[in-house]
Amino acid sequence: MAILKEKVIDIHHWTDKTFSFKTTRNLSFRFKNGEFAMIGLEIDDKPLLRAYSVVSPNHEDHLEFLSIKVPNGPLTSKLQHIDINNEILINSKSTGTLVCDYLLPGRNLYLFSTGTGLAPFMSIVRDPETYEKFENVILTHTVRTIKELAYKDLLQNLNHDDTYSYVTKGKFEYFNTVTREKWERTGRITEWIKNKNLWDAVKKEKFDPELDRVMICGSEEMTYELKKIFESFGSKEGSTKVQGGFVIEKAFAEK
Ligand SMILES: Cc1cc2nc3c(=O)[nH]c(=O)nc-3n(C[C@H](O)[C@H](O)[C@H](O)COP(=O)(O)OP(=O)(O)OC[C@H]3O[C@@H](n4cnc5c(N)ncnc54)[C@H](O)[C@@H]3O)c2cc1C
Repeated sequence: MAILKEKVIDIHHWTDKTFSFKTTRNLSFRFKNGEFAMIGLEIDDKPLLRAYSVVSPNHEDHLEFLSIKVPNGPLTSKLQHIDINNEILINSKSTGTLVCDYLLPGRNLYLFSTGTGLAPFMSIVRDPETYEKFENVILTHTVRTIKELAYKDLLQNLNHDDTYSYVTKGKFEYFNTVTREKWERTGRITEWIKNKNLWDAVKKEKFDPELDRVMICGSEEMTYELKKIFESFGSKEGSTKVQGGFVIEKAFAEK
């Protein structure tokens, strides 16, 4: 295990609450798509690191992260001001439960996210192996405002993208919802599952716990509610040790 020093090569501010950035990648840094690593900045001569899911798939030669901007947050109050060529510290050990191998084989893979919980799924939906393991991949992303739909254009185009369409075409479905603005689809994802027939909306068969698999990444409340829903459908939670019907990771720790 080592702390690698990478350089910022690109920055994109989505809103006043979120931004994403790319860094160089030392190829000795290995990770499974869906995992997170501890990354951060050197502050007062000490590394200040936080858990971050890797947005970029593991076959790319750079790394990308999607970040919240927490006012007065020890790391992100500084990280949000990074510039090209600034140094980012990355702990070489990655880990996490949102990995396809921790799910039983299946038909449809549902990836449910809110806010920055989208990050781990950005690497999974661009991993050709995901489409070898599952017939269809359905990604949902729920945020408060339309502008917070990070990577919306990339995701809307993934079925037609020059690089990925040979694996994603006809297999990938992107479904976003917004909770605090008028939009084509509004409301929380739990409402869509319970009352609005999500399965019809994404043009898929009704959820079958024997065949369909789920990954969940979002706030504590969202992960708790979805866990209860999928358990009530008869799905069992998996882990790094035992494959299951669904796996969960909180997108951040509440304090
Ligand atoms: C497994 C795991 C993976 C994570 N992946 C990411 C990621 O990919 N991108 C990312 O931005 N953060 C991610 N986080 C959260 C991240 O580790 C930090 O908490 C975040 O960067 C803020 O750091 P901070 O030092 O500024 O504030 P902190 O002291 O860490 O957080 C202060 C408060 O801000 C709120 N908060 C923190 N992170 C978020 C968030 N992402 N969304 C909404 N509210 C938040 C919480 O209420 C928290 O108590 C992850 C956390 C975990 C446990």
